[in-house]
Amino acid sequence: MHANDNGHSDPLTQLVTLLARHMRHMSTADALLLEDQINIIRHGDDLSRITLAKNLTYKILRAEQARLSARGIPLTSNTYVREEYYPLDITLIHAAMDHFRLSDAYKTKMAEVANDVTDAMKRSKTLQYAQRNWHTMKDDQKIRALKIVQHLHEKHQKLGDLRCEMLTGLSFANIAMTRKNGDMNPKFFLAFQHNAFSNVFNNTSGSVIATAMDRMGSHIYYNTHNDNYFFRRSFAAAAGAMHHEQQHVFQGALAMAVHDGRIEQSNPYYRDARLFYLLTREKCYMPGNIPSLYRTQAIETDAFAFQTAMTRRLYRRFHDGAWADDPAQRAAYENSGCALFKKLKARIFGPRP
Ligand SMILES: [Zn+2]
Repeated sequence: MHANDNGHSDPLTQLVTLLARHMRHMSTADALLLEDQINIIRHGDDLSRITLAKNLTYKILRAEQARLSARGIPLTSNTYVREEYYPLDITLIHAAMDHFRLSDAYKTKMAEVANDVTDAMKRSKTLQYAQRNWHTMKDDQKIRALKIVQHLHEKHQKLGDLRCEMLTGLSFANIAMTRKNGDMNPKFFLAFQHNAFSNVFNNTSGSVIATAMDRMGSHIYYNTHNDNYFFRRSFAAAAGAMHHEQQHVFQGALAMAVHDGRIEQSNPYYRDARLFYLLTREKCYMPGNIPSLYRTQAIETDAFAFQTAMTRRLYRRFHDGAWADDPAQRAAYENSGCALFKKLKARIFGPRP
C-alpha cells in the first residue's frame, strides 16, 4: 500500500527531470534557493532534511489554503491538496524524506511478528467466533473482540528484546462522518492513536508525576460508527485498523527506547528506532490531505504494512478444530449450512481420516 510506487523512479532522479523543465522559467533567487535545498537533501544532516521537508509542507498547505479560500472552500483534514499544482515542492519533500526509510531487516522482522500475533489470535475462541460471525454480532460483542485483538498484538509486539512496555488505553466512540445538516464532521476519524513518546516530549508541565503518567499514556481511539468501513466490512478489516494503530503505539515505544538510551547503536534495528525517534520528536508528520507524502512516510508505511499483513492473514479461515471445542459455538456451527453439507458428504462418501 505504498502510494508512491506509481511508476516513479527514485525521488532524486525525478527531481532532476523536473528541474530541467522548471529551471528555464526560474528567477535567479529561486534558482539559488533551489540549489540550497538540493544541497541539503544530498549532503545535509537528518535534522536539516527534516526542517526542509516540514517547511515545504507548510508552504504547500498555506498556498493551497489561499487557493481554496479564494473560492470559499476551507482547507480541512478532509480536503485533498491538488498535488499537481506543487510538483517541485512535492518532489523535494519526497527526496528529503527518502533518507528516512525503514531497513529490510526491520520489515522482515515485522512480518514475523505478524505471524506470531496471528497464531495467538487463532487460539482465541472469541476471535474464532468473530471471524465467522462478524456481520451478525452486536457492537458490544465486536468491541470485546477488538479489545482482544489489541491486547494480543501488544503482547507479541517485540523487536529483539525491545517490547512495548507501556499501557495502552483504548476508547471506542461512535461518530458520524456527516452531520445532520449534511456538512462533513471535522472531528470524524476511523481510528487514531496518541503515543506516549509524544506525550513525554511535549510535556510542558514539568511535574515528575505528570511525566511518569505520560510515559504510560498511549491511547487508541476507534470509531464504531457505520461510516467506518473497516469496522463495517469484516472481522479482518476491523482488526486490521486496530493493528494499524497498535503499530503506531509500538513506534512510540521504540522512540522512547532511543530517548532513554535503552537501545545500543550496535542493535540491528537501532537506525529504525532512531528514525521513529527523530520524526516523532521533530513532529515531522506529513498530513493525510497530501496523500502521496502521507502514505510514503516511514511512520505510515510501517503501520500500513502491518495492517495489510494482518488483514491478509485474518481473511484466511482459522482452523475449525479449536473453534469447534466451544460447545455454544459448536452448536451454532453445526446448524450452519456448511456443516450439514459436510455431514451429508461424509454419509455418501464414507468418513475421511
Ligand atoms: Zn497511521
